[in-house]
Amino acid sequence: MAELGTDSIECFAPTVNDKGRVNYPEVAKLLTERDSSSIEALNSLAERGLLNKEYKTKVYICPSCQIEGLQYITGCPSCKSTHTIRTRFFEHKPCSYSAPSDAFETEDNGDLYYCPNCEDKVEFSEFHILQKHLCNECDESFDNPNHQLWCLECLHICPPANATEQTLYEYHLTENGDRWYRTQTEARELLADEFDTRGFDVSVDTELQNDEGILYDVHIHARDELLNQRIIADIHSTVTPENIQYLGRVAEELQAQPYLLITEDSAPETTLQAAYQHGVTLLWIDQNGSIQRYESLEDEHRSPGTIIDRLSSAVGFKSAEES
Ligand SMILES: [Zn+2]
Ligand SMILES: [Zn+2]
Ligand SMILES: [Zn+2]
Repeated sequence: MAELGTDSIECFAPTVNDKGRVNYPEVAKLLTERDSSSIEALNSLAERGLLNKEYKTKVYICPSCQIEGLQYITGCPSCKSTHTIRTRFFEHKPCSYSAPSDAFETEDNGDLYYCPNCEDKVEFSEFHILQKHLCNECDESFDNPNHQLWCLECLHICPPANATEQTLYEYHLTENGDRWYRTQTEARELLADEFDTRGFDVSVDTELQNDEGILYDVHIHARDELLNQRIIADIHSTVTPENIQYLGRVAEELQAQPYLLITEDSAPETTLQAAYQHGVTLLWIDQNGSIQRYESLEDEHRSPGTIIDRLSSAVGFKSAEES
């Protein structure tokens, strides 16, 4: 919890998970928009100008085991074996027979060769010298091998077209994004402190398990063993009814009370209705930087300032515009 204030993140870098899907492991923790994939969450933040989306590279996913990191390997067009080598071939000009050079060699006379096809003695000058590929598996020779991709994990070999191509982007925080990010982490710290002050045992960014062993990420988990009370809380900038439904469901699974701290200024009526319906208590931060219950849209006491201003007074950090 103490590290939250000093949390910093430069960019969200992609990884490919064991299902061959691109994801951003930092995002699930930080961005909280769990009902969409991490990519959708990042794209929506990029659309809001909080992140810069930057092309990084492409990766190729094994169609058999979904692991990333296929290696290029050539193969025999005839039997598909990868045990092919580029080697020197001789073509006997008069009969056009061609074979690896050693097929023409004789044991007794180094300067003189022998053609296995026309069974003649042959001078070196009677050869065309070629570079060809030879398959050690089926003895086929060819000018160009097949292009293939080889999975180092499951050893599956496939034509490049069969691999799944994934484009990877990095997402960098813009100036606005940096402020947004700090707002989220500061709000989290503020709420964690609030529970801490009330004597709860608090953990931040934690994973909780239900009776069936299913894991859930929550921003804050606050417990009081003596009173047998358990709270889970999330911090969101924009809240959708789906976010609320999710939190309500997780709380039910974990037998906890759900709280949701909203860091944007207004919540639409549908959000309030969803919160009521799913038993989620909504919170906001007032002009003094104190956490309050979000009662209704017409809450007279709500501050006209932005969340940044409110948080600034609470934790004393300056927004980029002020500095
Ligand atoms: Zn594989
Ligand atoms: Zn072959
Ligand atoms: Zn010949």
